[in-house]
Amino acid sequence: MKFSELELFCAVEREEFVPYFQPLVDLRSGKVDGFEILARWMHPQHGLVMPGDFIQSLETRGMMNGLTVSLLKKAFAAAKLLPDTVGLSVNISPMQLIDPTLPDMLYGLAHEASFDLRRLTVEITESALFNDLELANKIANELKLRGMRLSLDDFGTGYSSLLHLQAVPFDEIKVDASFVRSMSTNRQSRKIAASVVGLGESLGLRVIGEGVEELIQAEMLIWQGCDLGQGWLFGRPMPADYLPSFMEQQRPAAPAEVVSEPPIAVRSIARSLEAHPAERLPQLRAIYDGVPVGLAFLDRQLRFVNVNQRLAEMNGLAVEAHLGRKLSEVLPETYVVVEPYLKRALAGESIQGVIVKRPSPKPGAPPIDILASYSPAQDEAGEVIGVSVAIVDISITLPFMRSARQSSTGTQARRLFPTLPWTIDTQDVINRASVAFQKLSNAYRT
Ligand code: C2E
Ligand code: CA
Ligand code: CA
Repeated sequence: MKFSELELFCAVEREEFVPYFQPLVDLRSGKVDGFEILARWMHPQHGLVMPGDFIQSLETRGMMNGLTVSLLKKAFAAAKLLPDTVGLSVNISPMQLIDPTLPDMLYGLAHEASFDLRRLTVEITESALFNDLELANKIANELKLRGMRLSLDDFGTGYSSLLHLQAVPFDEIKVDASFVRSMSTNRQSRKIAASVVGLGESLGLRVIGEGVEELIQAEMLIWQGCDLGQGWLFGRPMPADYLPSFMEQQRPAAPAEVVSEPPIAVRSIARSLEAHPAERLPQLRAIYDGVPVGLAFLDRQLRFVNVNQRLAEMNGLAVEAHLGRKLSEVLPETYVVVEPYLKRALAGESIQGVIVKRPSPKPGAPPIDILASYSPAQDEAGEVIGVSVAIVDISITLPFMRSARQSSTGTQARRLFPTLPWTIDTQDVINRASVAFQKLSNAYRT
């Protein structure tokens, strides 16, 4: 849609531009941290017009300050509906950032509305910095002096992000939606996305993932160290009137309370967070450490990437003593015994339920029998990236199973030990491994 200068001018004058609010959510706690203000034009004829149809026209005509003033007046008024702890983020165009009147303008608006400027974050895209880095930096510093926070928007898409990060005192980066989208696509994209998130994190900046539409993306962001997320998964941009009911849904409902159905336009964050990704990591960790099976993941070089508490105990070492080190260095004698299985798994073969006699971690003690599974872990392209290992110590149960076998092969053993997930035949070969055990040994993959 193309609009004439007069139309745009009148729209600013008549205050037809309104702020929509999209939540920024703490990925770990699920709490709303703030809202980004996104411009919408309530056009008398065309209805709701999106920023893609007017921002550029306003920019080329030098009318962006008019838009920002109009939006912030309404947004600061709407902020009275929000708790003090919830912030607002506003987008500032390149031209505005080299306008020396910007800090005073923002200060004036906030002062008039009694809005604490420490609650305001100014989002700047990289292209905004490209033209005159020195002047932009000076104005950015003035904004900070007045208490505002600075955010580098669309991070990763600009020309020289690193230079900008160094030159301007940013408080946060917003990882562009294109990285978040590509995260679940393939390993290469995931690695790039992880580096972008990791860079912000290592510089001590808050990192926000943009365009989060799926739970898997939110989970990956958490694993990569991202703090906050923004996207349809957590809520679409909404008009000010929706803010109270949206915030109301953030409160955990009392058991007897009847919760009415939320408006369709407002995605219920509470509902989407029922299985919030933040809670999944500790849950998985607890399962991983609490399960009565030794679990480990070895990379292609057969280095320990991860080990659970149980396996560490079986090896007579601390978890940390394994991490990053090769199996051949940590347990040289065991390595000799299990190497053939590991090599087969690295070649893509899944080996389930073999009995292996391995040296005891206790000096002088006899070897111990373990029941082991070695499963290849593959990436999206089917490339083997390591081996997941699941081990149960069966030194105590094996003799019972052998004697049981002599009476009526396996059946007796199952009757005697109903919880045992496998039975063996006369050659000590597993003739029945339970689905649960196989699943368990397959479960731990990257
Ligand atoms: P942005 O600053 O990168 O804002 C995020 C955009 O992504 C918004 O588009 C938002 O609606 C959209 N979005 C959020 N979550 C999702 C998601 O999960 N999936 C998808 N597909 N999209 C999502 P919107 O509102 O159309 O705004 C587009 C751009 O217009 C903004 O991009 C910003 O650069 C600009 N803009 C909007 N309001 C203003 C303003 O007041 N001033 C300035 N200078 N620019 C503005
Ligand atoms: Ca933005
Ligand atoms: Ca953005």
